[in-house]
Amino acid sequence: MLDLRGLFEKTGERILLDQKLELTDLELSPSQAFCSPISVKGEICNRAGIVIIDAAAAFDFSAACDRCAAAVNRAFVIPIKHVLVTSLSNEDDGSYFLVEKMELDLEDLIRSDILLSFPTKLLCRDDCRGLCPICGKNRNEGDCGCQGSETDPRLSALKELLD
Ligand SMILES: [Zn+2]
Ligand SMILES: [Zn+2]
Repeated sequence: MLDLRGLFEKTGERILLDQKLELTDLELSPSQAFCSPISVKGEICNRAGIVIIDAAAAFDFSAACDRCAAAVNRAFVIPIKHVLVTSLSNEDDGSYFLVEKMELDLEDLIRSDILLSFPTKLLCRDDCRGLCPICGKNRNEGDCGCQGSETDPRLSALKELLD
């Protein structure tokens, strides 16, 4: 817990954030994993009476491609930007984050921001062609000659030989 009492009380006050978090309890599917601790850098500051967290969470992540199941390793940087408030108004649009008793659970905030902005699909590349539904061949590695292929059958026979 980060005690933000001093920050809420004094305009111009700031806390620099530079820490590493292990969010091992973050729910992920079996093929997904964090490959690094989550590095959080930025600051929490009181600007003219408004307390703002302006930081970024960076980490490496590995998962299986949603189409072809190849291993995907990717570095993510997720912005952590909120106005921290001690009570929520009715007009909360998600940019506010409630800090009860002026104590911030930084892990909790980072965890929910990562879950919210994490892509639902991870592809090895944008134009991944996936696996052939008929023969199961990874179509990124070349045409398999099954249905939907526009290759001349004689050419694909030749290609089989060359493969
Ligand atoms: Zn893929
Ligand atoms: Zn095929």
